[in-house]
Amino acid sequence: MEGTKIKIAVLSGKGGTGKTLVAVNLAAIAKNSVYIDCDVEEPNGHLFFKPEQLKRHDISVKIPVVDEKLCTGCRSCVAFCKFNALAYINHKLMVFDEICHSCGGCSLFCPEKALSEREKVIGVVQNGKSEDVRVISGIMNVGETSGVPIIKEILKYANEYQDITVIDCPPGSACTVMESIKDADYCILVAEPTLFGVHNLNMVHDLVTLFNKPYGVVLNKCVQSENPAETYCTEKNINVLGKILFDNELGTINSNGLIAIRQSDKYFDVFNQLLHKVSEEVQHETVVNP
Ligand code: SF4
Ligand code: SF4
Repeated sequence: MEGTKIKIAVLSGKGGTGKTLVAVNLAAIAKNSVYIDCDVEEPNGHLFFKPEQLKRHDISVKIPVVDEKLCTGCRSCVAFCKFNALAYINHKLMVFDEICHSCGGCSLFCPEKALSEREKVIGVVQNGKSEDVRVISGIMNVGETSGVPIIKEILKYANEYQDITVIDCPPGSACTVMESIKDADYCILVAEPTLFGVHNLNMVHDLVTLFNKPYGVVLNKCVQSENPAETYCTEKNINVLGKILFDNELGTINSNGLIAIRQSDKYFDVFNQLLHKVSEEVQHETVVNP
């Protein structure tokens, strides 16, 4: 694995499943790794890592702005915009910033050159260090509707500092998740042992299958009784990478905002084994699908 640049994405169908637990601990145990928090609406990996030497910079997108003196009201731009971010109402062109995808097409399309672009800040990137882990978080401003531009920006840090990058994806299977896993070499799906957990696992399973990504499942919060998520994996012939038991010790470590592998030998072993399993899987994939 040394010298090989790999990106591991951690997903779950909903929040609270243990995705951040797995992503943070994997990045921490990998050492000399990069942790990227793509859950830009609610990034919380940095709360565990408590990174130091923080640097922050704004992320902006380009939004069209109209020069009313030049606009003839031809509505060509309105017809062009597939996102309905433009409307011509009462002899005035309206731009709806929140739904503009900053494609720049309308400005190019306007026959009167009445449209130019302005910068709009939509969030920040925070870059710091926690022991030997580089910690990158994207934080979207309240009220913004798409985190995709922030995710694109923070993923530029993947493998920039070290060989292993762990990507903590947003929950669910929306476009932000697709953007987060697009270039991942391997996906870890985290699932809870309930029927609802199966529903959520199914969602992300469909997604990684669609993207043709190699993947495996981590079963979290496992108890002695039947585990519908495990049954789902058996039925679908899905590789189970590991099981994390429901445990008060882990709950306490988590609720205190601490990193399990840095607090407990037991969890050091659990996540060390998981990292080795994932490393083997990635190596296998590299050999089978070079
Ligand atoms: S394409 Fe240009 S001229 Fe036509 S409505 Fe849009 S801004 Fe105005
Ligand atoms: S930049 Fe693209 S998305 Fe935004 S208003 Fe223009 S055409 Fe629509």
